[in-house]
Formats: sequence, C-alpha cells, structure tokens
Amino acid sequence: MDKKTICIATRNRHKVEEMAPALAPFWEVKCSADYPGISEEIEETGGTFLANATIKAVATSLAISDYVLADDSGLEVDSLAGAPGVFSARYGGIPSSTEKNNAKLLEELDRAGATTPEQRKARYRCVLVLAKEGQALASFDGVCEGTIASGPKGTQGFGYDPLFVPVGYVKTFGQLTGKTKANLSHRALALKKFSLWCKESCGRQ
Ligand code: IMP
Repeated sequence: MDKKTICIATRNRHKVEEMAPALAPFWEVKCSADYPGISEEIEETGGTFLANATIKAVATSLAISDYVLADDSGLEVDSLAGAPGVFSARYGGIPSSTEKNNAKLLEELDRAGATTPEQRKARYRCVLVLAKEGQALASFDGVCEGTIASGPKGTQGFGYDPLFVPVGYVKTFGQLTGKTKANLSHRALALKKFSLWCKESCGRQ
C-alpha cells in the first residue's frame, strides 16, 4: 500500500527524532521544516495540552495538504500544583532555555521543601492530535510517572530529561538510552495508541 505523507508539526528536532521511527511503518514522515509555507511560531494559547496540540495541528493543516500530527507535552509536578504544565517550554522565562527551565524547577522544589521522592512526584504528559484541512480528526494521550532528581544527570534526551526519573528506574531519562525512553515515555505511549488507530482505522500495516 502507498504510504500517505504525515507532517510532524514541530521544529523541535528531538520530538521529530522520537516520533519518526514509530510513524515510519505507516506514513511517509516529514516535519514542519520540510514545508516553506508553515509559519515559524504558532502561539499556544490553550489551557490544556489537548487544546494546544489541537491549535498546532489545525493551524498547520490549514497551511499544507498533507496529514498533520502535533504533539503538545510537558511536565506536571505534584508539589508545585501541577506546574510547569502547559508552560513547560517557557517555565524559566522568555527567551526560554532548557538550562533556565531546569534551574527554576529545582529552585521551586527547594522553595517548597520537597526533598523526598514522594514529595518530588511528577509526570510527563503528551497529547497528539491528528488533523487534515483544518479539522482535528483524533487525539491520543500518554502519561509517564516519575520523580524529579536532586540535580541534573546525563546527556540523553532533551528538556527536563536529566531531572526526570521514570517509575521503576533509578536513572534519569538523561542517563537511560533512547531505546528505553522510546518504550516507556509519555510520547511513546501516545504514539502506540496512534499506531493502533492507524492499523484499525486506515487498514495500514
Ligand atoms: P511544547 O513544544 O510546547 O510541547 O513544549 C514541550 C516542553 O515540555 C518542552 O520544551 C520540554 O521543556 C518539556 N517536555 C516535553 N516532553 C519532554 C520530554 O520528552 N523530555 C523532556 N522535556 C519534555
């Protein structure tokens, strides 16, 4: 069967690297950088991951004719009342940087007196939205529970990965291999649901 083209609506190369292998069996995979017509920055004005993923997917699908898959994701920390949440990308301020985001996360946990793993419970959340021609067609979510380490460890992954220890492990995603993250991350779990949907809905193999 001829594969249709899907555009991963992101300029984050780490997200593309994590998502492309799971999509490749079903789709010809591209990303925003492959389309000159896609605007650089789509403003994420939603209050939830689903709302923001929908905004990105729908806006991108109005600019191109291929299917679009948008990911909105982030970290929720219980002791911080769910922060940084939808503000994960710019938690440390604008212009945003991973260093500032991670430093702020550690500072806020210190300020909250959260020292034990129980007090540093957190989860990554990911919502994927599939869209075409301005219509959101389906959404898929994934959650990965864990804790926040006392300081950054490892260089794998991106974003908060050097601080995030997934449940069942003592190492951070920064220390674990990409293969391990590709099995149990929030994005991996959402992608598994999407793959199942592709098999069932499109008869794709
Ligand atoms: P988005 O591009 O608006 O979805 O922002 C997602 C932000 O959440 C990223 O910039 C990271 O700070 C954080 N994030 C989401 N997924 C991950 C992940 O898999 N590892 C590390 N940080 C992540």
